[in-house]
Amino acid sequence: MNRYDLHTHSTASDGTLSPSELVRRAHSRGVEVMAITDHDCTDGIAEAMAEAEKVGLTLIPGVEMSVTWEEGQLLHVVGLRIDPGNPLLQEGLERLHRFRFWRAQEMGRRLLACGIAGAFEGARALAKGNIVSRTHFARFLVATGNCRDMNDAFERFLVPGKPGYVAGEWATLAECIHWIRKAGGQAVLAHPLRYPLTAPRLRRLFEQFRELGGEGIEVIAPNTNGTHTLAQHARTFGFAGSLGSDFHSCESPHTDIGLRENLPNGIRPIWEHW
Ligand code: AMP
Ligand code: MN
Ligand code: MN
Ligand code: MN
Repeated sequence: MNRYDLHTHSTASDGTLSPSELVRRAHSRGVEVMAITDHDCTDGIAEAMAEAEKVGLTLIPGVEMSVTWEEGQLLHVVGLRIDPGNPLLQEGLERLHRFRFWRAQEMGRRLLACGIAGAFEGARALAKGNIVSRTHFARFLVATGNCRDMNDAFERFLVPGKPGYVAGEWATLAECIHWIRKAGGQAVLAHPLRYPLTAPRLRRLFEQFRELGGEGIEVIAPNTNGTHTLAQHARTFGFAGSLGSDFHSCESPHTDIGLRENLPNGIRPIWEHW
């Protein structure tokens, strides 16, 4: 197992393990350096840090921020080694929380219009932390028998063009990178091959990301099968490489915590100077 896993979720956002459970599972699977990167929030870091000290794992404080880029394209940017106490970062995250809460209510209203009642309340009840995400809506849709499984819920209701998808005003790419850097962190573009972007647009994204101070891209991300392609992009644009399982729950075996692959040769690791 690789020593590093720099992308994981806990119950502070849409994961199913508490921050302590997450750290224990990582440790038991041979991960030695783990970043906790909950969506738009840092609430799980303190608990994870305390548990990491107990078991002897190095915990990297992180976050996965939601960004709206060019005509409503949602992107995810991981911030690594952030100071969660940084006021500018927290102000930014609070703005995202306000949007997220409004969006959840709006999703509830739109699903009601499709004949599905109580989705907002249901999703909110499934959320253990302060973040209500589409994952919670999907779990609600499955639990109430409206959908077969999580994939069905996303495909029919929660992706762009479907009734439960509310496009929105997340952070701009510039803001997000600025907040992460001001909080002492490194900005890493998450799972670059998961966005529906043409090749020229992806290159434009890499250029802008670098220009704005982004330092790395995830070269190993599950379900994207693009390590070779991503390594080439990292070399071309001079990015450091990061890697992460994007672990959410033990029920999705493809993305259990910890990775087998190593960064390809010649890729400078994002942890080079840690
Ligand atoms: P949100 O941040 O509320 O927009 O929710 C996005 C989250 O939904 C992602 O971080 C994933 O965890 C989850 N997600 C997105 N697409 C799918 C899918 N097709 N199947 C299962 N989970 C998904
Ligand atoms: Mn998620
Ligand atoms: Mn993501
Ligand atoms: Mn993630």
